[in-house]
Amino acid sequence: MRAIISVSDKTGIVEFAKELKNLGVDIISTGGTYKKLKEEGVEAVEISDLTGFPECLDGRVKTLHPIVHAGILAMRSNEEHMKQLKDLKIDTIDMVVVNLYPFKKTILKDNVTRKEAVENIDIGGPTMLRAAAKNYQDVAVVTDPADYTKVLEELKENKEVSLDTKFYLMQKVFMHTSNYDTMIADYLKKERNDNAFPETLTLTFEKVEDMRYGENPHQRAAFYREIGKKKGSLVDAEQLNGKQLSFNNINDTNGALELLKEFDEPTVVACKHGNPCGVGSADTIEEAYEKAYKADKVSIFGGIVVINREVTKALAQKLKEVFLEIIVAPSYEAEALEILKEKKNLRVLKLDDISVKQDENAFDIKKVNGGMIVQTIDSKLLPEDEEIKVVTKKQPTKEEMEDMLFALKVVKFAKSNGIALAKDKQSIGIGPGQVSRIWAAKQSMDHAHELIGEDITKGAVMASDAFFPFSDVVEAAHKAGITAIIQPGGSNRDQDSIDKCDEYGMSMIFTGMRHFKH
Ligand code: 5GP
Repeated sequence: MRAIISVSDKTGIVEFAKELKNLGVDIISTGGTYKKLKEEGVEAVEISDLTGFPECLDGRVKTLHPIVHAGILAMRSNEEHMKQLKDLKIDTIDMVVVNLYPFKKTILKDNVTRKEAVENIDIGGPTMLRAAAKNYQDVAVVTDPADYTKVLEELKENKEVSLDTKFYLMQKVFMHTSNYDTMIADYLKKERNDNAFPETLTLTFEKVEDMRYGENPHQRAAFYREIGKKKGSLVDAEQLNGKQLSFNNINDTNGALELLKEFDEPTVVACKHGNPCGVGSADTIEEAYEKAYKADKVSIFGGIVVINREVTKALAQKLKEVFLEIIVAPSYEAEALEILKEKKNLRVLKLDDISVKQDENAFDIKKVNGGMIVQTIDSKLLPEDEEIKVVTKKQPTKEEMEDMLFALKVVKFAKSNGIALAKDKQSIGIGPGQVSRIWAAKQSMDHAHELIGEDITKGAVMASDAFFPFSDVVEAAHKAGITAIIQPGGSNRDQDSIDKCDEYGMSMIFTGMRHFKH
């Protein structure tokens, strides 16, 4: 039996090669791998001695030779193949142990040049892997050091690797080489600043972990991370306390974080089932939390709280009083962390770049049965060049203006149809995910009245994620004492809503930008 060993990741290779040698396997190897094996006293034949051709072009050509590839690709059961090998004086190669140039590691390095990245595109490695995988019935192909043990066990026990294992190894190779190529293609697409939606969409994600279950306990689930540098993503958060994050935890926290990124000032977002339930901004983070908490003391129970400033001891004491699933913040005072850690199950995460937004060209992907729909993320709050248009006689005050922008940020991250009410940079009522606009409005007001008080909506502002089809929302808002409304506009009956506002002395702004979130 002959094996060719050519690996960039040399983890465990010496032990594996030693064992192969003990089992009577002849080893052929390439430059760096050969050197390592020799240093460790493992006997091997250098590839150039086998091919009679030197490794050249800085290693670009090492194993790309018919002696290697015919030795791998000949079907042992095909008499003609075997006769041809004999005539050509080529021996079979029965095992290929190859892992590829570290392309991923290279592109993740700071300031990597394109030249360096391109030089790390492996050519001979994938060629050998694919050849061996194609001829999997006769060749065992090992690309993952994690499989060394299994292969050795089978060789020791049966003097061969079983067909079943060889089939498994084959499948793993094509998964690996296709991911490798996708990673290269993806890197180059980014290098060209090409934001087009490609003809075929292949994405490389690597598994972070298997999850205990999905959205519900009977669904299987896993968590994958996108390859490439990401800032401000939950994927990079460091977990300081508590159990593993669940599927819903990740989905919901992601939504809360995206909302938090809209704010520069100290802000706290409380979120439940993917919708914000309380949001507060203030001069200090403690006040901001107080606002977020008091916005909805009920829904926050079992919820997620994300915070864009360091968690102080005082804040930790407040947070501890509530039953929460998750807290995410950029940092924690040592004492604050001690306090939070007293709650064994509370998931506490530290996310350094919590305020860094996603690239506006990042893809937002939704899987549908039989396909998927891809769009760029909803990165804007307001149209860039256009002035915000006040459509009513009454102009909003500076405070109303600030609160409307605050409410607009909140509603942008609530499920549609969504309405959010705000006052003094506190969300006071959120009506998310309703099938009718008026219900969303009513829910936001019921929320405010039931959870805070009947008077809270007096002088408050309203934001809507999409236009008002009728003037009924304005009427309901007026009844509750709301004085200013921000919405995209664009309905056939816009004028009805404007007229109502004028009649009631309310101000209204049309942004011209819808923020549906389904
Ligand atoms: P070594 O450290 O042994 O010199 O090189 C091992 C690496 O070379 C492996 O990652 C393997 O995939 C790669 N490799 C093997 N043959 C060739 C070849 O002919 N061309 C290129 N570019 N890479 C090769």
